[in-house]
Amino acid sequence: MSGNAFQALVLRQADGATTASVETMRDDDLPAGEVTIAVRYSSLNYKDGLAITGKGRIVRNFPMVPGIDLAGVVEESRDARFPAGAEVVLTGWGVGETNWGGMAQKARAKGDWLVARPQAMSLEQTMSFGTAGLTAMLCVDALERHGIDRAREVLVTGASGGVGSVAVALLAKLGYRVAAATGRPEHGAYLRELGAETIVPRAELAQPSRPLASERWGGAVDTVGGQTLVSALAATAYGGAVAACGLVGGADLPGTVMPFIIRGVSLLGIDSVRCPIDRRTTAWRRLSELLPDGLPGEVVEEIGLGEVADKAADIVRGAVRGRVVVKLP
Ligand code: NDP
Repeated sequence: MSGNAFQALVLRQADGATTASVETMRDDDLPAGEVTIAVRYSSLNYKDGLAITGKGRIVRNFPMVPGIDLAGVVEESRDARFPAGAEVVLTGWGVGETNWGGMAQKARAKGDWLVARPQAMSLEQTMSFGTAGLTAMLCVDALERHGIDRAREVLVTGASGGVGSVAVALLAKLGYRVAAATGRPEHGAYLRELGAETIVPRAELAQPSRPLASERWGGAVDTVGGQTLVSALAATAYGGAVAACGLVGGADLPGTVMPFIIRGVSLLGIDSVRCPIDRRTTAWRRLSELLPDGLPGEVVEEIGLGEVADKAADIVRGAVRGRVVVKLP
């Protein structure tokens, strides 16, 4: 490629529909920001799927480069913390939503949004976790701060997805007994390999539950929302907690307050987008310590920019397993 041209996946709107195509952009097209980054890897998260397919109102200003996370090398910088040559990771802060994101060979960002690459991880490994992995770590951190009864199982819903897979692996590594809820029983062996002890059919949690079911879970990581979250709360044991981060099954909360007021169960909200930088840095360090070799190879699929649009449709219909890393050429 010549001069300051680079390849980017670009979302545009035509007749109310979102289109996604690989285009050549120039440095001058990049938004304002102190740090210009040569992107090496991005990753595909559920939110990217919603943005790229246009199925969720994630992007409001077009053209937009999607990609809610990226890892790369600083090319030019007006921020002394991240000089040229520094390796950085960026997740959240509206990149790929309101600011151009990671699915391009170059990105420009505020220095305040960046985290230095965790020492023990390669750039590729950081994106094998990506926003999903960071969010799983934030969920586990929150459950640990709360305190979970180790004698009981911890439930992970949407277990074969990105957040779910990493949450299963992290909890198992920390010595918790993990129950993985999945709608794809064919992934049972995969989930057991990640460390799950029990496989729970997704349908069990999708049924309307009694306000209080028998006390089964010490805690839970919920990526699904809706009735699944309500069922998780209803079966969480006295004093336990559910870390809620997702809505693949619905954004509603069709339950009662009984788990909170009779069993002292806590609902812990998890957000990775505006999560303070010190908490992120700690989460990345913990991820690198707990899973120092990154995720097992079979959990991660690597694709190029040209394959992102098809994969985005797959992730929205729940057909992706584990994590998808996007390698920039
Ligand atoms: P994935 O698509 O990788 O995983 C979601 C998993 O949920 C699927 O693999 C599937 O697992 C299950 N699932 C899919 N559709 C349904 C359904 N209709 N009902 C019940 N289960 C379903 O997504 P991610 O892991 O990237 O993200 C998961 C959720 O977490 C999303 O809602 C995302 O927006 C949210 N998220 C939130 C963040 C935050 O900061 N709060 C950050 C990152 C993600 P299986 O087949 O095993 O059942």
